Amino acid sequence: MAYVIGADCIDVTDRACLDVCPVDCIYVGERKSYINANECIDCGACEPECPVGAIFVDRTARSDPDRAAFVADSHAFFAEPLPGRAEPLGDPGGAGKLGGEIGLDTPLVGDHPQGGAG
Ligand code: SF4
Ligand code: SF4
Repeated sequence: MAYVIGADCIDVTDRACLDVCPVDCIYVGERKSYINANECIDCGACEPECPVGAIFVDRTARSDPDRAAFVADSHAFFAEPLPGRAEPLGDPGGAGKLGGEIGLDTPLVGDHPQGGAG
């Protein structure tokens, strides 16, 4: 099981979830935030904090293609080089170790229509 941030975070990114994550495994891109599934300890603290309900458990994506796309995309954010980068982020061990926000998104998120749902 892992927690995943979906489309509703896009262009919202109010960061309420970041404040409650005990292991600092939520990374801020440009238009969206992303949970590192390898670092997430599945505590669930972030889920009720999100004002737009963007955070879900990955198993709920099995019957939901839109959610499934964001499960795969969250993996890609860390496992594949982001646009303009030569190396993937991998598992940095906490967003704070990167010295701030990433400021980049996956192609799926970067090209996503404005304003969340979908
Ligand atoms: S997942 Fe929700 S709480 Fe976290 S940054 Fe996105 S919109 Fe904000
Ligand atoms: S489930 Fe817990 S550890 Fe995982 S991202 Fe949310 S707050 Fe962080």
